[in-house]
Amino acid sequence: MCLFCEIAAGNIPSKKAYEDEQVVAFYDIAPQAPVHILIIPRRHIESAQTLTDGDNELLCHMFAVARKIAAEVGVAENGYRLITNVGRDAGQSVPHLHLHLIGGKTLNWNN
Ligand code: AMP
Repeated sequence: MCLFCEIAAGNIPSKKAYEDEQVVAFYDIAPQAPVHILIIPRRHIESAQTLTDGDNELLCHMFAVARKIAAEVGVAENGYRLITNVGRDAGQSVPHLHLHLIGGKTLNWNN
């Protein structure tokens, strides 16, 4: 199982921000900003590049979860960034689709 599948299954501990039957969100182990949360599907999807039309609802749900968490952690008003890295050139280090929800400070374009 991949690292994020293990986290979703609860086999590797994480600090959860949200979970339901489709999605798990947890705090990044190496935060790049005061708020840095990862939102992943429970089902293994390698990256945005391997999404299919059948994943439309799931993707919509991931964004809905991001909005909910952003409001809960207090960054919705000032703003935040949602990032998904795809592949080697983007620096994707875990090959399981994830949205980085980053905020809590003014963000530069390179972070
Ligand atoms: P990416 O580089 O876009 O693939 O993002 C992977 C992210 O996963 C990085 O920001 C890592 O800090 C984070 N990460 C790796 N291992 C863990 C872990 N065990 N718990 C929480 N976050 C992790």
